[in-house]
Amino acid sequence: MNKYVLLSAIILAAFLFISCGEKKASTSLNAMDTFMTIQVYGKKPDAALEKTKERIYQIERNISTTNKASDVYRLNHSEKISVSTDTLTLTKYGLDFAKQTDGVFNPALYPITSAWGFTTGDYKVPSQNQINELLPLTDYSKIQIDGTYINMEHGMALDFGAIGKGYTGDEVIRLLKDNGIKSALLDLGGNIQALGKKADGTEWTIGIKSPWTGKAAAAIKIADKAVITSGGYERFFTADDGHNYIHIFDSKTGKPVDNGIAGVTIITESGLYADALSTTMFVMGLEDAASYWRHNSDFEMIIFTENQDLYYTEGLEEKLKLFADFSSVNVIRK
Ligand code: ADP
Ligand code: MG
Repeated sequence: MNKYVLLSAIILAAFLFISCGEKKASTSLNAMDTFMTIQVYGKKPDAALEKTKERIYQIERNISTTNKASDVYRLNHSEKISVSTDTLTLTKYGLDFAKQTDGVFNPALYPITSAWGFTTGDYKVPSQNQINELLPLTDYSKIQIDGTYINMEHGMALDFGAIGKGYTGDEVIRLLKDNGIKSALLDLGGNIQALGKKADGTEWTIGIKSPWTGKAAAAIKIADKAVITSGGYERFFTADDGHNYIHIFDSKTGKPVDNGIAGVTIITESGLYADALSTTMFVMGLEDAASYWRHNSDFEMIIFTENQDLYYTEGLEEKLKLFADFSSVNVIRK
């Protein structure tokens, strides 16, 4: 081969190698009342990140409870409207999950969480009378879906606070994959979701926060999984009586959960499922959560109690590294 031809071939190969090359990039944004960080590795990572941001803002515009133009706001202030695919998907999923958990998970609790001030930050303890009046408005079985239309009684209101970020994580991962990204890590305010493995081919190490100190209490290695936590310590207020009221609610009583659970972390493939489960297992409490897991073992679970006991499902044995001092460490078995 002529040496100029060879040289050109080498230059072309080098050019192709560089232009096919995979790079790292990351971005941060504030959306859904949450500081989010996304790191990606692959071809054209910056373009993929831009699309990701747009998609997150789009979901936020659809499901925000406070933006007057959102589907959810309009739905919560009228009776029947046609909604976006995001809102429709979340409504269907939320209602299905409510049925499956006999209402422990309830996407229609907004009238109650508002009365306690969690929607505005103007916290108060409502009277039992007020709670009794509002509870019928949280009857999710009255919500009807007709094509793209959602119909509910005046005074009822939806809120995807418990599943919106998990859904968003799944949508982001789908978008990243469609854009040639093979490896990514999302941190949507403590909701961690991984696409593939790290760029070097090893698994991601995810720290799990101690509900008591805020430092890492445990760590786990994952690939292609969501690690999603609901913590009573994340949002609560202290009332005049000195009692702490958290943002996770017992849908039957209309009161914040007070069952000795400090935090629940769920590990499974789907962010939406993990997010729904983290809230639901928190509300169920230790015994019922363990029993739910025994019947639906398509996820792993870590439970921190207020007494600093740690419980985790048997699939995590040998995978979980523990750093904190726990009062006791217990494995939930079949
Ligand atoms: P975070 O938003 O802190 O990540 P969660 O995923 O557990 O935590 O979601 C908590 C939110 O879910 C609350 O702020 C409220 O909007 C909503 N919520 C509270 N209790 C319930 C419940 N029993 N079922 C469904 N949603 C709930
Ligand atoms: Mg949740």
